[in-house]
Amino acid sequence: MKTITDAAETIREAGVVGAGGAGFPAHVKAAAKVDTIIANGAECEPLIHKDYEVMVRHAAEVVKGVRLLMRATGAPRGIIGIKEKNAAAVEAVTRALDGKDVSLHLLGDFYPSGDEYILVYEATGRLIPPQGIPLDVGVVVNNVETLYNIARAADGAPVTHKWITVAGAVRTPVTFRAPLGMSFQDALAVAGGPAVPEFGVFVGGIMMGSLEFDMTKVVTKTTAGLIALPVSHQLIVRKRQPAKAQHRIGKSACDQCTFCTELCPRYLLGYDVQPHKVMRSLGFTKTGEAFWNQYAALCCACGLCTLYACPESLFPKEACDKGKADMKEHGEKWEGKREVKPHAMYEGRRTPLKQLMKKLGVSAYDHPSAFKESIPAPRRVTLPLAQHIGTPASALVKAGQRVEEGTCVADIPGGKLGARIHASISGIVRTVDTAIVIEQG
Ligand code: SF4
Ligand code: SF4
Repeated sequence: MKTITDAAETIREAGVVGAGGAGFPAHVKAAAKVDTIIANGAECEPLIHKDYEVMVRHAAEVVKGVRLLMRATGAPRGIIGIKEKNAAAVEAVTRALDGKDVSLHLLGDFYPSGDEYILVYEATGRLIPPQGIPLDVGVVVNNVETLYNIARAADGAPVTHKWITVAGAVRTPVTFRAPLGMSFQDALAVAGGPAVPEFGVFVGGIMMGSLEFDMTKVVTKTTAGLIALPVSHQLIVRKRQPAKAQHRIGKSACDQCTFCTELCPRYLLGYDVQPHKVMRSLGFTKTGEAFWNQYAALCCACGLCTLYACPESLFPKEACDKGKADMKEHGEKWEGKREVKPHAMYEGRRTPLKQLMKKLGVSAYDHPSAFKESIPAPRRVTLPLAQHIGTPASALVKAGQRVEEGTCVADIPGGKLGARIHASISGIVRTVDTAIVIEQG
């Protein structure tokens, strides 16, 4: 990568998107002007260890990715945020650091230390303005796997695989590079299969992921992990409650104890998020919901209020989701407090991950998910054309066509925000619709 334009173009060609779960096309961030690049290695979703493995095994690429982005954006400094408890990753990255332009920032084992607002504050002392993004304070944040992909893009390698952890109620928890489009069923098989007959899978994590029962669904560029749990597990039972029931229970049982607000990480950082007030939007006060919804606008959907803080097992996070959706639907603007000042108890009230896992009832699944270097290639992969933020990619291939691993099979429609997609296995294109199906052969 020689020039700034080259860097963004190389990243665009390789189809790199935010691998931490957001899926934002990485070439857009590479074209920004900032003074700091932060590598997000905080990884705080319980039981997921894929970023840890990326850092242990590919620290040099992560550092290279940080430097490439520093050059592209003109940033004089890079910071890699890693939890201090992840000693092997800290050691590997420390060994890969040569020079003072990139440094390490050690983080405590709290949830959600990977939230961009928190990470930027922890690493730089800067507070992102309400409703803002890191760019507003001169920072670009990228997940460590995204930086690894950027480093590989510079060597001409497109994104064909996704680092994932498969854990929970499986026989052998494991982390591996899954070919994009691999079915959940095939991914679970790499972990020895489910350990219980009836299960559901949290895609992307227990706290912020979605619950899935259809194992024909596939790994995409944003899948951080698959956490299988028995259908009788409290997390699945709660998640399966219809929104109507969640809100009805909240309306009748919320006693306004404020625990959800007092433990909310965004509130503690100084933002005007107050889930206990959002609960009032469910209709147990006479003031209209539009007023109370305002307190949901800066919520990052971390799930802590619902899954950890509320002593009544209510759903304040879901009330915030509803509040944000209502505001969008009715075109209501956020008019809350713009001043941001961390709470006096910011340090003391953070949620330790171990404590969180205990409350979630998943401590028994907290085993190392050993890295598997090679896995059998799946017979078939299904590559959705929409697996990133922006416009779905446009297919470049037709049914019956032979492709090799790494062939670009879908491109960004002219001038739109999006990402290219590349074949993750060699084989024959079987169908092209909203996804491209490729089978070995
Ligand atoms: S913690 Fe639960 S009961 Fe207390 S205010 Fe929040 S939602 Fe209501
Ligand atoms: S989900 Fe709850 S705890 Fe998390 S930011 Fe939103 S209101 Fe705060």
